[in-house]
Amino acid sequence: MKLALMCRNANLYSHRRLVEAAQARGHEIDVINHLRCYINIAAHKPEIIYGGEKLGMYDAVIPRIGASVTFFGTAILRQFEMMGVYPVNESVAISRSRDKLRSLQLLARKGIGLPVTIFAHRTSDAAKMLELMGGAPVVIKLLEGTQGLGVVLAETNKSAESVIQAFSSVSTDILVQEFVKEANGEDIRCLVVGDKVVAAMMRKGKEGDFRSNLHRGGSARAIKITPTERSTAMAAAKAMGLNVCGVDLLRSNHGPVVMEVNSSPGLEGVETATGIDVAGKIIEHIEKAAVPGKTKTRGK
Ligand code: ADP
Ligand code: GLU
Repeated sequence: MKLALMCRNANLYSHRRLVEAAQARGHEIDVINHLRCYINIAAHKPEIIYGGEKLGMYDAVIPRIGASVTFFGTAILRQFEMMGVYPVNESVAISRSRDKLRSLQLLARKGIGLPVTIFAHRTSDAAKMLELMGGAPVVIKLLEGTQGLGVVLAETNKSAESVIQAFSSVSTDILVQEFVKEANGEDIRCLVVGDKVVAAMMRKGKEGDFRSNLHRGGSARAIKITPTERSTAMAAAKAMGLNVCGVDLLRSNHGPVVMEVNSSPGLEGVETATGIDVAGKIIEHIEKAAVPGKTKTRGK
């Protein structure tokens, strides 16, 4: 097969691994920096220009679009889709996953376990909001935050109110969420590929941090997940329309709850913690799913 890897930095672990895994299975793979692509919208035959040349046809494209360039990146991916290239994750599914609130709404609609969450814009009535939540402790999140930045734990109503007010003053949409204390600063990252959870790890925050993000200095180990956790992760991936994703779960008193679904999951942490060749699993998924000429997606 002829594959395209859309990414900005070919040297990142995840991207190197995907190239290696594709080549190890006898495929050709080109790394394409989406920010250097341009597209001719009006042309009746969709095409992408890269380095001054028209890109040829690919069997599949692996999108690795950073959150900060979602808008432009998904436009380029949509153009691949219009050309009939199989996208490992569809452009609309990636856009969906980048909107925390929309994601929670989609997951809620499918009856997937979620932490109790309230959404507001510049609320002037923080007290009312907290009352609805049953009071502190609560977790307050900026809608645009990633990698644990913009996620604050407020342990008392007083501090929750001041955080909500502070966030409101900079005019931003916020989520106020039940604090799942029993998760103990740990979360579970499930790597979904196709219709399977191919690897799972438990992440623990730095001592004293309730956030388990590896970017915030957390550590990870392989874990055996329960059948309920497995089916929750699968259902979340399906609700989001993602073939490859990382589903983050917390172990709450009321069963697994989904924190978020990441459409470009990093491979380094999970491959290191579990020893599983996740990149290889992604390529194997493409081998099965990218039937030439049968791609249904057309960027719609
Ligand atoms: P980001 O998208 O920035 O990574 P998350 O919403 O995933 O932000 O939160 C970062 C981390 O904080 C999570 O991985 C989890 O460990 C912790 N966390 C987030 N929300 C809650 C919550 N409601 N209860 C307990 N821990 C939480
Ligand atoms: N193709 C539709 C759109 O781009 C689907 C949107 C969606 O379901 O997320 O608006």
